[in-house]
Amino acid sequence: VVTTVFKSDVALALESETSQVKRRVGIMGGTFNPIHNGHLIMAEQVRSQLGLDEILFIPNNIPPHIDTKTAIDGSMRAKLIELAIKDNANFELERIELNKGGVSYSIDTIIELKRQHPDTQYYFIIGGDEVAYLPKWHRIDELITMITFVAVKRNGFEQHSKYPVIWVDTPLIEISSTDIRQRIIQQRSIRYLVPVKVAEYIVKNGLYQDERH
Ligand code: ATP
Repeated sequence: VVTTVFKSDVALALESETSQVKRRVGIMGGTFNPIHNGHLIMAEQVRSQLGLDEILFIPNNIPPHIDTKTAIDGSMRAKLIELAIKDNANFELERIELNKGGVSYSIDTIIELKRQHPDTQYYFIIGGDEVAYLPKWHRIDELITMITFVAVKRNGFEQHSKYPVIWVDTPLIEISSTDIRQRIIQQRSIRYLVPVKVAEYIVKNGLYQDERH
């Protein structure tokens, strides 16, 4: 009888632990120069397949890799994200890296988000191309203990990683910000590659006409 009582106590304790449902939030980090439908499709697929509560879009201020071209101003990139996600109640713009300034490191962002929301479990969403670069991420060994990486296929290949990564199956999307910028310079259409409102804002404000972006 004693054993049974003990067991049921443990079971109860476990039950209450698992029923403390943590908020599960996806993070889409990147330069978003500009945001495109590939970003939106992957975010939505990961959200629905993992049953996440919401997705935060976190544009960086300055990305850590120095070979990147200078992106357009952070406030413009954020504005385009805002326009792109307005109609999705599960998507949110988070300006934490823009507000902080300087070079944006994911580890700093996660430490700050965890400090503000200790009960939230974060899922960091990346493209398959990024998986190979994970070992180069700043303080990756610490970062991996704080978040779960989720990857989606890109360019057809699935990379193996020395770090644990959850692969989510999405349609292969051959859209990149680089391609969008080139199309704008070459005066080719970006319709259906980015949301209507994003395309309109880019045209109206003459964004990405300068090849340096
Ligand atoms: P660029 O062409 O300027 O490098 P990008 O299209 O890769 O830009 P980022 O803002 O750098 O856009 O991407 C943020 C994250 O989204 C990265 O992890 C990237 O791998 C991923 N990503 C972007 N586009 C796709 C796509 N079409 N399929 C899968 N992952 C993508």
